[in-house]
Amino acid sequence: MDEYSLLIRNATIVDGSGKSPFKGSIGVKGDKVAALGEVKGDSAREIDGKGLTAVPGFIDSHSHGDIDVLFFPGCESYLLQGVTTMVAGQCGMSLAPIKEKTTLMSVAEDYLDEIEPYKYYPKRTVFPREEVNALMKEKFGWTIDWHSMEDWFRVVEKKKISMNMATLVGHVTVRRTVMEDDFQRPSTRDERDEMGALIRQSLKEGCYGMSVGLDYDPDTYADHEELVEHCKIVAEYGRIFAPTQGGQVGGATSLRATGSTTRSMGYWRPSSCAATPASR
Ligand SMILES: [Zn+2]
Repeated sequence: MDEYSLLIRNATIVDGSGKSPFKGSIGVKGDKVAALGEVKGDSAREIDGKGLTAVPGFIDSHSHGDIDVLFFPGCESYLLQGVTTMVAGQCGMSLAPIKEKTTLMSVAEDYLDEIEPYKYYPKRTVFPREEVNALMKEKFGWTIDWHSMEDWFRVVEKKKISMNMATLVGHVTVRRTVMEDDFQRPSTRDERDEMGALIRQSLKEGCYGMSVGLDYDPDTYADHEELVEHCKIVAEYGRIFAPTQGGQVGGATSLRATGSTTRSMGYWRPSSCAATPASR
């Protein structure tokens, strides 16, 4: 019986440890790398790696792939570039938690004008689920049938996506879920509590942290106290806070707001469009 299911011979190997690239072979058993370097033994399948470099899968640390993953579960555009893990739910936008109103996502947005004719100056940004799902059913043959992050993870797992995904809960999504289209104002005590409960639940259900998109509605209207309060929940769980201050709208203001939010929590560094590790 063959020792390996796949043997990549004579490649230049970058093993991800930080050490210099070296020539060698890679023996794979099932879905695991079993040997690296001088590899002896037979294999069911061989690839000649001469002139090629073998590397661990890349991680896209700022991804919006979660928006598209149910439409394109094969994730071919990522895999063909060597990306095997995405950190999704960035810029405050995640696919859950949602209630009875929701938005259109990914390629479904092409049909937005069928339910909201004012595409660029919309009167509504969230729509009743039945309205969205009538369109989803007609155009794509499936519907948005989740509420919590846990529900959404189940739907994604059922689709059998071809890469790894770490997800953040988006503050834009949470704020929109709670305030719907009445978001151009500070949140009330009750609304903040409701948002906090959704964030807490999402972290418990497996989110790696929370992203905030201060350049985007409705997070543009979130004040300092609201953000600090919600970031403290993230800190409680020792998870990641990923602020975005892209600078498209009020960049300097949002940068200052993010800086003071993170400082007040004891986080060590806000970073533009990237995950900031929680260091307390
Ligand atoms: Zn982004």
